[in-house]
Amino acid sequence: MKPAFIFIKNQKEKIMKIHEYQAKELFVKYGIPIPLGKMIQNPEEAKEAAKEIGGGIWAVKAQIHAGGRGKGGGVKLAKNLTEVKEYAEEILGMNLITAQTGPEGQLVRKVYIEGGVDIAKEFYMGMVLDRASEVPVMMVSTEGGMEIEKVAAETPEKIIKAKIDPLFGLQSFQIMEMAYKIGLHKSQMKEFYFFAKNLYDLYMDLNADIVEINPLVLTADDKFIALDAKVAFDDNAMFKHKDIVEMRDFAEEEPAELEAGKYGLSYVKLDGNVGCMVNGAGLAMSTMDIIKHEGGNPANFLDVGGAASPSTVAKGFEIILKDPNVKAIFVNIFGGIVRCDRIANGILEATKITEVNVPIIVRLDGTNAEEAAIILKEANIENIITAVDLADGAKLSVEAVGGK
Ligand code: ADP
Ligand code: MG
Repeated sequence: MKPAFIFIKNQKEKIMKIHEYQAKELFVKYGIPIPLGKMIQNPEEAKEAAKEIGGGIWAVKAQIHAGGRGKGGGVKLAKNLTEVKEYAEEILGMNLITAQTGPEGQLVRKVYIEGGVDIAKEFYMGMVLDRASEVPVMMVSTEGGMEIEKVAAETPEKIIKAKIDPLFGLQSFQIMEMAYKIGLHKSQMKEFYFFAKNLYDLYMDLNADIVEINPLVLTADDKFIALDAKVAFDDNAMFKHKDIVEMRDFAEEEPAELEAGKYGLSYVKLDGNVGCMVNGAGLAMSTMDIIKHEGGNPANFLDVGGAASPSTVAKGFEIILKDPNVKAIFVNIFGGIVRCDRIANGILEATKITEVNVPIIVRLDGTNAEEAAIILKEANIENIITAVDLADGAKLSVEAVGGK
């Protein structure tokens, strides 16, 4: 029988991210070695922090919820205290663009100063839930410091995997096998063993979704140290971990997505100009596909869920309209449990609560669709355009934003 308690994930799975410095605080709790470090938010504190840490070389690292910081100029090695301050000044407040932030980048509000480590060898170590085999998988590789996605695509044999049965936990032979395959020496085994075991415990205890240490470095004196730390958690389990929830940094999250969450709506921002209000994730996907098929580009999708009411629809319009790129809103709702006439009334109510100054293209189908069409027609509101079906709705929406 499968252990159902850990692996049942709900469809709307979300993850909660934390910063590197926070992930490293957790590493300390689990006995995973890290360099000494301190997070600061003001460059004036940089020298003091570096002095406290000690040593003669420091890494000054941008703290954002995205990786690839080094390549983007968000990680600098300072050789003296003056450089520590200079780099902290440079990085704090910069708009850091990395392969993971998207072209708009991310504002750096926090910097982590940590002791510089003399790197003898770089490895990768990570843990994820492998959906195909339905167990957590530990991965190690000699290709540390590289983009692991690239390694996986080009030289998958260089990623060594251990599938872990959660009823038995990570077994010693699995750790030995990984150590052997990445070419570790006998004298390095013990340290590696505890490193792997502690990482596994952290992953399982804290309901992590992913943990990545890239690079995991081996020092000249055979110590393993986590130089980077990425940890994200399964949102659905966070009710069990109040201390981790406190680590959430709202400044790193999309404000409109946060606001939508408060009202039970799920909103995802995209780059186009057609706002999409839908019910259900499947309909959201097909709505975006058909808009693209008609030559348009969705600005977002907002899922009002099963309980669309006038107030949720109004809130939805408000959130969608906060994005200045939105030039039309396509309301594409299939009435099953929620009846179309209620949605139609909801739309009318919503336009009274929130001023909508772009065309609203409405496609309502399913239960009571005819009644809904009559309600909208009789209301005779100038910027509401009714569509006969999905294709028609998409076409009208793309036309409303100026066509293909
Ligand atoms: P990212 O993966 O976001 O680029 P990392 O924390 O991996 O950020 O840092 C990028 C690179 O900077 C690392 O691969 C490593 O070579 C170097 N680096 C990071 N921290 C330190 C440190 N404390 N001492 C020495 N080098 C470091
Ligand atoms: Mg890294």
